[in-house]
Amino acid sequence: DSRNYAANCADALEAARKALHDVESHLGDMDAVAGDGDHGRGMVRGIDAATAAAAKALANGAGAGDMLGAAGDAWADKAGGTSGVLWGAGLRAFGESLGNDEAPEPAELAAAVTAFAARITDLGKAEMGDKTMVDALLPFAETFSKRVSEGVLPDVAWAEAAAAATSAAQATASLRPLKGRARPLAEKSVGTADPGATSLAMIFTVMGPHLVR
Ligand code: ADP
Ligand code: MG
Ligand code: MG
Repeated sequence: DSRNYAANCADALEAARKALHDVESHLGDMDAVAGDGDHGRGMVRGIDAATAAAAKALANGAGAGDMLGAAGDAWADKAGGTSGVLWGAGLRAFGESLGNDEAPEPAELAAAVTAFAARITDLGKAEMGDKTMVDALLPFAETFSKRVSEGVLPDVAWAEAAAAATSAAQATASLRPLKGRARPLAEKSVGTADPGATSLAMIFTVMGPHLVR
């Protein structure tokens, strides 16, 4: 029922919260190479606010969609920075696509991932190769949708998508940033992967087992 899937989504956010606390200083160091060094701090502030809002919504009986919307709004509000605005809006879009009804079919989950990606590219205007979180997000969304449409079991499709996102995030190391705060120091960034792509691949990896049921 709807209450159950909302609880799964809250568990997914909690898994992301743990993972982000573990890598906070690493993400900050990556962002300090050519950006302003606050990516770890911002992501932790955002996910802490999102999990708190999700717990409150869940206690009030919200379904998955409304809960994720509240979590996204809290994330955007509290994280600060470019990544916070994008993650918050993306989570809200993900929830709007899922709705409150019940555990999504694989195709519905793929549609929600696509909605998440579309919201982030609409707002941030980044394209593949700009050295942003989009470089990990689009391979994730494309792999998951493609494999689900081919009838692969959703947990397998999610794992393949997460692996695609992780290698795509690593591959951003060779790129020069064309968007965001790291652009003015683009040359210094070469050799270091994009922090936002790295955190996105990590978050999608740990959320999978909770979202795919
Ligand atoms: P800020 O750059 O405001 O300090 P963060 O450090 O939290 O925010 O996030 C930086 C990350 O945001 C970058 O590593 C990149 O992945 C992502 N980013 C920056 N600009 C964009 C954009 N226009 N579209 C998508 N992602 C972006
Ligand atoms: Mg930063
Ligand atoms: Mg900043």
